Amino acid sequence: MTDLPKKDKLIYLDNNATTPLDPEVADKMCWFLREHFGNPSSIYPIGRAVKEIINQARENVAKALGAQRSEVFFTASGTESDNWALRGVLDTSPEKREVITSTIEHPAVLNQAKYLEKKGIKVSYVPVDNYGVIDLDFLRAAITPQTALISIMYANNEIGTIQPIETVVAIAREHGVLVHSDAVQAFGKIRFDVEKLSVDFLSVSAHKIYGPKGVGALYVRKGIDICPFIHGGRQERGIRAGTENTIGIVGFGEAARVLMDHGRKDQEKIEKLADSLKRGIEERIPKVIFNGHPEKRVKNTLNVAFPGLEAEAILLALATKGISVSTGSACSSESEEISPVLLSIGLRPEIARSCIRISLGRFNTEDDIQTVVRELPGIISKLRQISAFDPDE
Ligand code: PLP
Repeated sequence: MTDLPKKDKLIYLDNNATTPLDPEVADKMCWFLREHFGNPSSIYPIGRAVKEIINQARENVAKALGAQRSEVFFTASGTESDNWALRGVLDTSPEKREVITSTIEHPAVLNQAKYLEKKGIKVSYVPVDNYGVIDLDFLRAAITPQTALISIMYANNEIGTIQPIETVVAIAREHGVLVHSDAVQAFGKIRFDVEKLSVDFLSVSAHKIYGPKGVGALYVRKGIDICPFIHGGRQERGIRAGTENTIGIVGFGEAARVLMDHGRKDQEKIEKLADSLKRGIEERIPKVIFNGHPEKRVKNTLNVAFPGLEAEAILLALATKGISVSTGSACSSESEEISPVLLSIGLRPEIARSCIRISLGRFNTEDDIQTVVRELPGIISKLRQISAFDPDE
């Protein structure tokens, strides 16, 4: 087994990959595991008790989203929610054979879109500007009477840029097209309300909000039809079959409750820490480039290029100091492929390869930031000496 750094020595700055389980969530899950084993579909008391607990969790997730309880369907992940939205809508309206998405979506949308293309669906990919904001004119022009769905992510996982979802919805409404948003990275990082956003479908995932892994949800606006993605029993009101991941759902519900309790305070703290980290890097390291929109960005996310270097070398050097960051989205970190998101915002491949993503979360402290600001300049300067990069050139 890999030797792990001691937990109190670990500086975890990869909260967009996943978040640590909140202790309150862990307590609730342990209580549930000890006290309840019933199948929520059983009609005798131990089954009914679990059904009630699940419905409470659904209520919490719905409240945190600004939705009604009946609009929230639990899934196995954000990935499943994204896949379901795209496929489910096309299956519901087989006469419409086109989908619009963007070039910087998570693989959960992009790879589903590629799969749909193989099945004969036409997919239009909306490009983005240098900040990662979608081209609304392109979007407008791409809509045809054949368009079944527009799927645009809310906040990008790699660079943090927030998309103008309200405008996307307004454009879609003019043409009677449905809208899905992958809000996996927005949920818990910015305040929003599905009712006001007016989207038809929205994906979220528990492990990005200090809940457990392997559980997500799809918001489906009341009155909108969607074909099941998984066929089987009557769970989730007959549109997402399979005995529920009860423990995961309980954790998700508690994570949503904790989020409503102190999410705003967390965000203020995280924003201050992220600003201080950004300043520290800018002041102490020459020739760095921050990616993503300077303002319209989830503030916990800093994506920074260190020209002349390979991100992997920086990541490994930081890891020896107990600091965890990432080179991009967790799903692609083992592949050699250059991040399509960074290429989409116009970075040259060698610059894209030099980018690390630092993402802060609820449990980071001022000490964590000070340590990074102390250690990183030395690491970069040493690596740049080795690579013979001259920052003054
Ligand atoms: N969408 C975005 C924007 C993400 O960042 C992620 C995970 O990193 C996902 C979808 C997939 O969520 P999950 O890990 O729950 O499958």
